[in-house]
Amino acid sequence: MKQNTTNNQNLVRDETETRSVSQVINAKTTLEGEGFVVHRAFPNGSLREFYTFLLLDEMGPIEISAGEAKGAPDHPHRGFETVTYMIKGVFEHKDSQGHSGKIKTGDVQWMTAGSGVIHSEMPEKEFSQKGGTLHGFQLWINLPKKDKMMKPRYQDIPANKIPIAQNDGVKVKIIAGESMREKAVIETRTPIMYLHFTLQPDSKVTQIIPQNYNAFAYVVNGEGLFGDKQIHAHKEQVILFGQDGNEITIRASNDSSTPLDVLLIAGIPLGEPVARYGPFVMNTEDEIKQAILDYNTGKMGKIDF
Ligand code: MN
Repeated sequence: MKQNTTNNQNLVRDETETRSVSQVINAKTTLEGEGFVVHRAFPNGSLREFYTFLLLDEMGPIEISAGEAKGAPDHPHRGFETVTYMIKGVFEHKDSQGHSGKIKTGDVQWMTAGSGVIHSEMPEKEFSQKGGTLHGFQLWINLPKKDKMMKPRYQDIPANKIPIAQNDGVKVKIIAGESMREKAVIETRTPIMYLHFTLQPDSKVTQIIPQNYNAFAYVVNGEGLFGDKQIHAHKEQVILFGQDGNEITIRASNDSSTPLDVLLIAGIPLGEPVARYGPFVMNTEDEIKQAILDYNTGKMGKIDF
């Protein structure tokens, strides 16, 4: 991706080491799987990926009427991780390794696809029959070369196992990494920070962030001010931070009655070539050809239950 470092205002740094905002991007509304609505933070326009992060989709929020739920039927993945975080509603998951489960409101499924799985991600049958609000996120995280062909693994974390910290109008759910002295329970292959902040109007958070992490935020709801220059952003916008400090500040607007709901996601760059084709993300074109061949010849298995 192209880094915006030509902003003259950013040449003069203040003493606080608060990161600047390099870009604010609107998520793009698109259809996934059988046609459910997603707001795609990226890939989007010129932003193909953000360092180790390959995709972020906000699924819904969408009102499902009884019996009308659409999902993503059987499809493969190789070479990266998919992280599903449900804000509301219930998804059902099944895969070619014989793994299955439900991802309910507040739950996280951290799937390391590694050498390859075929899975289906569908609104739960019971939930679909009743109808209701479906809202969640899916983040794709690249794997380092040495882990791309690892055995697939799952970390299914129910909502009540995800640490929460609160202070002065700020609540944070710690999905990965560390915030307000609380540590996540999820293990990551490379250092990752995945925090869900809820800020009451006019409250502010300062999150410490290691210098070598690249960070972005996604506004789930409300509006706020980001970075050293207090750049405004709202719902369905992506905020990319510069790598010019060791803390990130987020402030909820004081003239809004809606709390600011925001995801803050960060990780270290892998510095390895990215060859990407749909659900396969490898280092070379030959490895992509191999992935397609393995998929087409049934080497990734099938869902048979
Ligand atoms: Mn998938």
